[in-house]
Amino acid sequence: MLIVTKFGGSSLSWEAQFKKVKNIVASDPNRRVVVVSALGRRQKEDNKMTDLLYLIAAHIRYGVTYDAMWETIVARFIAVKEELGLSYDVAGELEELRQDLSQKSLNEEFLVSRGEYFTAKLVAEYLGYQFLDAKDVIAFQPNGTVDLTATQTKLQAAVPDDERVVIPGFYGAFPSGAVKLFNRGGSDITGAIVASCLGAKTYENWTDVSGVLMADPRIIDNPVSVAQLSYEELSELSYMGASVLHEETIYPIRSLNIPIHIKNTNDPAAAGTVISDEDLGHPQRISGISGKKDFVSLTIYKSQMSTELGFLRRALAIFERFKLNVEHLPTGIDHVGIVISGSGLNNQLDDLVQTLKEELNADEVVVKKDISLITIVGASLIGCSQLTASIFTALAKSNIGVQLIAQSPREVNMIIGVANEDYLPAITALYEELVS
Ligand code: ASP
Repeated sequence: MLIVTKFGGSSLSWEAQFKKVKNIVASDPNRRVVVVSALGRRQKEDNKMTDLLYLIAAHIRYGVTYDAMWETIVARFIAVKEELGLSYDVAGELEELRQDLSQKSLNEEFLVSRGEYFTAKLVAEYLGYQFLDAKDVIAFQPNGTVDLTATQTKLQAAVPDDERVVIPGFYGAFPSGAVKLFNRGGSDITGAIVASCLGAKTYENWTDVSGVLMADPRIIDNPVSVAQLSYEELSELSYMGASVLHEETIYPIRSLNIPIHIKNTNDPAAAGTVISDEDLGHPQRISGISGKKDFVSLTIYKSQMSTELGFLRRALAIFERFKLNVEHLPTGIDHVGIVISGSGLNNQLDDLVQTLKEELNADEVVVKKDISLITIVGASLIGCSQLTASIFTALAKSNIGVQLIAQSPREVNMIIGVANEDYLPAITALYEELVS
């Protein structure tokens, strides 16, 4: 019964956190495979190790000295080593790396991956586990995607049933051996891949909050956490900004139905959140509220549009040509709204409007900017008119005008568009009505 246990940077920010990690790992012998992020922030103003390494890479690129920053990195690793009484020569390996940086041309991804590498080496010695380098087991294809078959073969060979290992997250290697990073926050993905390839019973993801919070804590004071989410609910929440897990985490494990358990390293007794499609009997009204600002809606008007075969395809092809992802498509009889994220627009708006008018022979294209989209997620929304009524009552009571409504055919979420200035009041009103 293998548990793959991943610790994020906040669980490994300094020596005291390492001690908590050791207690957690030691408290269940099934925690045989541990995946780690690089040292995280010790307090709010602190830097994450990965950010420091990216900064070093930028200094090297611009030919600027980086001595002081390098000293900070070395000091942080040495403090962990000394405080925990470890023998691993982290200073020596860091010095070798520094020499290499000044002599060879820089492989930026390799440099940045060293945050996870050194952290994993220290954790491995501290736990008494073997260090298993991610470059030897997480296999990328030349096109930059993970080769799951090769990864599984390598992992299964490297981790026999009685082996206990620590694997650095966030990177793997191309067939050439060159290191390749995942996107930021990608250690979550490493953990999920390892859990799926080794057929784990559970994938634990230890962080600094007691589970998935039902709203953004920067907006709602002390939001409650949710006991259980389905994979789909988690995807909807992450896509719209909830930041507990990297949004790609579920893909490797969903088809195997391996539950993800989000736990708090600083409060291991707290129940946390279980993500699984099994009904664990946690009745809850909704699973969470999340959202993002700065969307743009373009409404294309053309009389008799609904009888014009292929109109929507031609409209969408124009967005594709402008490399714009379409988020929502509310339609009327002779108009269609196309909602996109404003961040991808890059000064193309006038050009886009002009092209839509000309190529579609549209009567008019009306642009509305500064829209926020808020998603209310929960399987209990399915067919529940009471809940739907509560959503609009909450907004009406706070005098918030709704600019757009979208509900997926699965009804697991409802998306409401409001003006950017109504974003915070809307989330607050919805939380108060639906959760507290
Ligand atoms: N250390 C990497 C980052 O900060 C990866 C991770 O933490 O998951 O993005």
